[in-house]
Amino acid sequence: MKKVVKFGGSSLASAEQFMKVGKIIHSDSERKYVIPSAPGKRDSKDTKVTDMLYACYAASEAGADFKPLIKAIQARYDEIIDGLNLDLSLDEEFKTIEKNFKEKAGDNYAASRGEYLNGIIMAAYLGYEFVDAATVIFFNGNGEFDAEKTNTVLSERLSKIERAVIPGFYGAYEDGSVKTFSRGGSDITGSIVARAVKASAYENWTDVSGFLVADPRIIDKPMGIDTITYRELRELSYMGATVLHEEAIFPVRREGIPINIRNTNAPEDEGTWIVESTCQKSKYVITGIAGKKGFCAVNIEKDMMNAEIGFGRKVLQAFEDYGISFEHVPSGIDTMTVFVHQDEFIDKEQKVVSAIHRMANPDIIDIESDLAMIAVVGRGMKSTRGTAGRIFSALAHANVNVKMIDQGSSELNIIIGVSDDDFESAIRAIYNIFVEVQL
Ligand code: ASP
Repeated sequence: MKKVVKFGGSSLASAEQFMKVGKIIHSDSERKYVIPSAPGKRDSKDTKVTDMLYACYAASEAGADFKPLIKAIQARYDEIIDGLNLDLSLDEEFKTIEKNFKEKAGDNYAASRGEYLNGIIMAAYLGYEFVDAATVIFFNGNGEFDAEKTNTVLSERLSKIERAVIPGFYGAYEDGSVKTFSRGGSDITGSIVARAVKASAYENWTDVSGFLVADPRIIDKPMGIDTITYRELRELSYMGATVLHEEAIFPVRREGIPINIRNTNAPEDEGTWIVESTCQKSKYVITGIAGKKGFCAVNIEKDMMNAEIGFGRKVLQAFEDYGISFEHVPSGIDTMTVFVHQDEFIDKEQKVVSAIHRMANPDIIDIESDLAMIAVVGRGMKSTRGTAGRIFSALAHANVNVKMIDQGSSELNIIIGVSDDDFESAIRAIYNIFVEVQL
């Protein structure tokens, strides 16, 4: 059995954190492939090494003296190396990095060095082999991740290595130049490696004990989620639950490999299991609540809209023409509403409105702004009567005006639109009725 273990930046921010990680890895001999992030924040005022690298590279591109910045980055690594008593020097690596910065190697290359260097330290510390991600993770000419080529090369390479460290966050184009995933992308690397070695589990170690039923910035000490399905997680992470990178589930999902979110600072906690399917019921009917602010509703009215074939298509075409994606489209007999992200829409609103007039000839268009969307997600809702009733009576008691309701056909989620100002009280009301009161 093989497990792939990914450690986030806060788990590797200092020598002390590295020691915790070492203990975790050595306590289970199945933990054979390790994916490190770059060192993260040691405390809330600290700066992530990735951000230091971006800033340093920007300074070098602007022709400023970037030496002090690069020295500060090296100091972060040296502190870890010293704290671990390793016989390792990164002097040569930093010389190469400095030279490449001067030769304008690009900000992707710059940012990737955070993981690359941490990988070298991790491999030395564990006595595992170091595998540079640029030699096993590939992007095509359009900058898209090449899943199949990567899987072939990576599984072949790792089949010959018993234990390895593969830095997260980056890979390379065909010509070897480095390309990173989006921020937080080491989660994706871990998932890719898990697929390649057909791991029995992908453990993702971070600084929280898994997913919580609701955002702790809104609910004081919310309950944790033991088990969540990939589909539920998709809904929740899309709506703002940020423990795991959105794209990290795809590679493992193909192989049915479970992901276990764990806490480096509390390794005894079981964390959250993310699985394809389960007969384990979630504790509270709902699995989780998440939401986002900053939506706009474009309300379109036209008499006899329902009888007009193609009306919806014409309206959506107007949004498409201006490159705006829509979130939800609830409709009535003579009305149709398109929910969009306010920040994407605001600069183009008048153009879109006139395009709708031109293409679909409606009677009235009315825009409502500053709306929030809340997703109540749970595989248990399908088989439980009265869930929607409980949600809406809780919202009514909390004096929250519901502006939109959308229940997906999978019965996995109910999306509720409220005004931005009611966002927090709506989430509290829903959490209370399901988790605190458990009526
Ligand atoms: N170090 C990168 C970031 O800060 C990638 C990661 O941590 O996953 O975004």
